[in-house]
Amino acid sequence: MNAGALHLLSSSVTDDRQLSVAETFGPTFQGEGPSTGRQALFIRLSRCNLSCGQGQLARWACDTPETWDFKRFDPRDPAVSRRQSVESLTEWALAVPTRLIVITGGEPMIQMSGLTRLARALHGAGREIEIETNGTFIPSGELVGYVRAFNVSPKLSTAGGRASARIVPAALRALAESGKARFKFVISHPGDLVEAAELVERFALSEVWVMPEGVSSKAVLDGMREMAQEALRLGFNLSPRLHTLLWEDERGR
Ligand code: SF4
Repeated sequence: MNAGALHLLSSSVTDDRQLSVAETFGPTFQGEGPSTGRQALFIRLSRCNLSCGQGQLARWACDTPETWDFKRFDPRDPAVSRRQSVESLTEWALAVPTRLIVITGGEPMIQMSGLTRLARALHGAGREIEIETNGTFIPSGELVGYVRAFNVSPKLSTAGGRASARIVPAALRALAESGKARFKFVISHPGDLVEAAELVERFALSEVWVMPEGVSSKAVLDGMREMAQEALRLGFNLSPRLHTLLWEDERGR
């Protein structure tokens, strides 16, 4: 990460009244995991601690590189990243009656204090909050109290990068013990199911979903068909990427 990005990251961590935001969109449908098909608003926070898709072992690429790859995307460009107050995000979300609000990234838990403030405001207004996370951060107790669910997507070796960066045992255990985590593995290769099963056993994970990698409806359908039988045998749930089936890789859907 370059110095400019580090400065932006540290400033985002210390001021809990503002968040670094990549985009907001919706209402649309939650496209992945147990809440698939529910109407939801999405708040995509900027910044990630991982860089999936880089390195020789990577077999798929992150579909939101603008949240972290600041060699390719300039974080000073407001179309890439903007500082937005928790107050204005809350106002935006409450302007429509959609009950479910999904906070995604990037990795939203990098901005834990601002995220907690946002979750407090939305929860207080009666909204349901889901947080999409890569499972490498321990959520604060206060945040756990506000969210309906953590949709945890631990990254497998096909994402590339160091295993010690992708898999943080203390964070996975804390999320599992929160009682609010559902685990979702992106499968891009048959070996991914084996690796996912090993993690499920090692950390005694429950509520496990597998989902094909793919940014076209054909790739998603083919992937689901390929893994369906093995997912059944392993006791995993199967998730589509509904937004991809409906709208291919259109942004903001
Ligand atoms: S954890 Fe998610 S947002 Fe971060 S690089 Fe990996 S796929 Fe992209």
